[in-house]
Amino acid sequence: STQIHLSSRPVGFPTHDNFDTVQVELPALAEGEVRVRNEFVSVDPYMRGRMSSAKSYAAPYAVGEVMNGAAVGCVVESRSSELPEGTLVLHSMGWRDVAQGPATAFQRIERASEDTPLSLYLGLLGMPGITAYIGLTRIAELSEGESVFVSGAAGAVGTAVGQFARLLGASKVYGSAGGPEKCELVTEKYGFDAAMDYKAEPIREQANRVIGDDGLDVYFDNVGGDHLEAALDVLAPFGRVAVCGAIGQYNATERQPGPDNMTNILRQKLKVQGFIQSDYAAEVGDEFRRVAGQWFADGKLVYDETVVEGIDNSVEAFMGLLRGENSGKMVVKI
Ligand code: NDP
Repeated sequence: STQIHLSSRPVGFPTHDNFDTVQVELPALAEGEVRVRNEFVSVDPYMRGRMSSAKSYAAPYAVGEVMNGAAVGCVVESRSSELPEGTLVLHSMGWRDVAQGPATAFQRIERASEDTPLSLYLGLLGMPGITAYIGLTRIAELSEGESVFVSGAAGAVGTAVGQFARLLGASKVYGSAGGPEKCELVTEKYGFDAAMDYKAEPIREQANRVIGDDGLDVYFDNVGGDHLEAALDVLAPFGRVAVCGAIGQYNATERQPGPDNMTNILRQKLKVQGFIQSDYAAEVGDEFRRVAGQWFADGKLVYDETVVEGIDNSVEAFMGLLRGENSGKMVVKI
């Protein structure tokens, strides 16, 4: 059997030198094992992350080991009554033509219908599809009548996001992708309201022009960096960002726009939501004054102030504040 192994860790874009093609003699099946001829092997952006040794949500690939990942195929030899010959299965043994192991390592695929292509279980009906669905319904909590912008719109996750969003009642669906063909694809085939070609013009300018005043309720981020920056320009009050991926940075060797540790939002599953205190003040005000007032009265609170003297020094106080010249509250004493 042929396997593709990681041979070295890439710096920037991976090259052929990072991989080895290895021929492996497969042992005879043991009791309870099956042999699967792969029909489709998935390549996914997260694999770039796993090629690096950096800590991430998926463990790094070991150098010298097969590039694991999703694959679908058909059982061609079986010593398990669970998965007889001819069973279609999904597994995670990745880049190899034949996979074998205990039946428990394989998941039977129940096809939606006889002619449902098997490859869909690596895409729309597989991991990328569920990713899109989770992002929209669980993370962004999309409601009917809301607008959605997805970056990487012409990709596996992106095309699913666009369609699901529409089906979930989105009012407008915007996408971004690289190149006019992809943009035409997402509007013509997938019914996006508009597509932005980020290679033709900075995405931030386009987002402001195309989405602009309409406002955006949900940004589904597959790209990060400049795309997130663009979305932040047009997100409406209480908009949500589902941080799904940051493919714009996976191969970056130089600092990208925006925080350079955006992927921590993903890795740590953070939810990013802003708030303005005044929206809550009426609801929380009485409680706060009661609780904090009591703490202070009980001597449980301490504080610092930096006092700038004189109204004439108000500007200096303000600039000093921006320069960080205060400890605790900066105040102007008149
Ligand atoms: P895609 O099918 O979207 O393929 C990747 C696409 O990324 C490319 O086609 C390319 O499209 C685009 N791309 C590559 N480089 C850049 C760049 N510098 N700037 C902008 N776009 C770029 O992959 P998937 O649908 O599988 O994954 C999409 C995203 O979702 C990835 O970020 C991935 O990591 C993430 N993901 C996250 C999961 C999760 O659980 N959080 C699960 C699955 C995926 P173009 O030609 O338009 O540039």
